[in-house]
Amino acid sequence: MRHVRNLTLIALAALLAGGHLCERAWGRTQVTCSAPASQQPQPTEYFVSLADNSRHLAHVSIRFTQATRTLTLDMPVWNALYQVRDFAANVANLRAEDASGRPVPVAEIKASEWLITVPSPCVVVEYDVHLDAGGPFGAQLSSEHGFFNWAMVLLYSPTTRSQTMSVRLLDVPPSWALQDVHVMGEAPAGKVEEAVGVAANYDALADSPAEVGVFQHSDFQQDGATYHIVVHASPGDYDMAKLEDIVRRITRAEVDWMADRPFDAYTFLYHFPDGHGAGGMEHAYGTAIDLNADRLKSSMLSVAGVTAHEFFHLWNVKRIRPQSLEPIDYQHSMDTRALWFSEGVTNTVGDMMLVRAGLTGERQYLDRLASDINELQSRPAHRWQSVEESSLDAWLEGNAYYRTPGRSISYYNKGEVVGVLLDLRIRQLTNGQKSLRDLFRWMNDKYAKKGLFFPDSDGVQQAAEIITGQSFAEFFRAYVAGVRELPYNDLFSFVGLQVAETTVRYASPGFRTLANPDGPLEVTAVDADGEADRAGVSVGDRVLELNGKPATANFDYDLSRMREGATVKLRVAGRSGKRNLKLKLVARQEQAFVLQDTPAVSAEQHAHRGAWIRGDDEGGGAQ
Ligand SMILES: [Zn+2]
Repeated sequence: MRHVRNLTLIALAALLAGGHLCERAWGRTQVTCSAPASQQPQPTEYFVSLADNSRHLAHVSIRFTQATRTLTLDMPVWNALYQVRDFAANVANLRAEDASGRPVPVAEIKASEWLITVPSPCVVVEYDVHLDAGGPFGAQLSSEHGFFNWAMVLLYSPTTRSQTMSVRLLDVPPSWALQDVHVMGEAPAGKVEEAVGVAANYDALADSPAEVGVFQHSDFQQDGATYHIVVHASPGDYDMAKLEDIVRRITRAEVDWMADRPFDAYTFLYHFPDGHGAGGMEHAYGTAIDLNADRLKSSMLSVAGVTAHEFFHLWNVKRIRPQSLEPIDYQHSMDTRALWFSEGVTNTVGDMMLVRAGLTGERQYLDRLASDINELQSRPAHRWQSVEESSLDAWLEGNAYYRTPGRSISYYNKGEVVGVLLDLRIRQLTNGQKSLRDLFRWMNDKYAKKGLFFPDSDGVQQAAEIITGQSFAEFFRAYVAGVRELPYNDLFSFVGLQVAETTVRYASPGFRTLANPDGPLEVTAVDADGEADRAGVSVGDRVLELNGKPATANFDYDLSRMREGATVKLRVAGRSGKRNLKLKLVARQEQAFVLQDTPAVSAEQHAHRGAWIRGDDEGGGAQ
């Protein structure tokens, strides 16, 4: 069996026919040292029984066949989100036995860490882990499906973390679609009765989430690569042909833009739940994306933005990777100033790629950019929190007060806007001959293709300077490390645009919300003495429903387009529990920015604008 850097399993079959795991206890397969090993035993073998799926309990057995006298076992405290979530809280009933089946002492030495004294080279460690966090940032086992981000499921030993390891699922409910094992990144590594997969190390395993259950599946070939689309949703909620068309356009646009395809196969795994759709999570050979089913029904295009963003991550953050995120420390939060680039500039490129793919138009692009500028400028914290500081503070985002406009800006938001301005500055200095594309291709060649990590903001600055032959020290000092107001009009003038302020009037429930990437829609600000304030709505409350339907990330926008004076029915969860509210929408006036033509736009500026929005270089540099 080939070792693969990454694996994902889309379905798996006939594990029980493997023959070497036949003893059963408590209705599930028992793993022991004496049972025959798999064909090519790895230093660490994980077995995950799904027998107790209806109680959200996975039963994990880990067989170490080359154990030393003592074995330290750790559970990650974070993964998938830049938030410490202490996954050890879900681990219960941890125990171990040796080759002769005798219990081995297990001592907890600190939160998330255990020490096992091993009398023989083989030891089997077992525990139950409660998995009931849906969405791409979670791990979930239910009677409907299993979705596993492995760092939330599997303990690791620091001494074997960098060695190969196998994972095998046991006791898979027979009703779940069982056809094939798909191994991400390379050809399938074997028949389904073989192990689910072998990963080169724990990091690769953690980057290879798995979905097991009943789902729809569509594959296509493009430019020599195989793309898999896997959907776990009600078939009536979406159109697979339309979804595939959107995905094809995005993959073609981005692979072409980067002039690089560092994979043979890539998987898009979609969940379209009735409730809150959490967003997307990037992996080296695939992405897991959750979107609310109602939103999708109103427009299949709602899937395009998150798909374009996550797919671009396969370069930016997965391969063009900041040094500050390596090596991964699963036991502590990691300080990084680079998320403005790794997340924010991924937004910049994702939006351009939607235009390039023919999925949105120029006007939509500019309107969206104007609303991003509004979001940034309307947050008072933009005057004192830099986009690098916002990145360092990513770990605080679980706190509702932290997310209020007076406390923080978003590195997604300001990073995206700074990415646009960086692109325009490069174009301005080279009269359109060079662009953000050259910056990404240079970083891809210089770092990603050589397996090197880039030195955070300094590495981006250096790339911009090498491409243009000019200094970007002031740009990075003022707008990346600093909080100087962004020079919109100096840079937009290159493409014949200016930022203008206008007064807008819209309907509001008397509070503002923000959708945390991993969570529900939360209230971030409440108008003093408004109806919502008097009804007790407060910062940190979660909005669950709007007029009987799940509230989405578009909540504020949807309400702003309703009639002033209209009454909306809300379901809100706060400190005192869940309750229903009726609120009358009030008129609100605000200064807002729009992007509009400068008084006289030259043909040259028009040409610059067209190239900029599509992400092209001018003057034959594109290919
Ligand atoms: Zn992202």
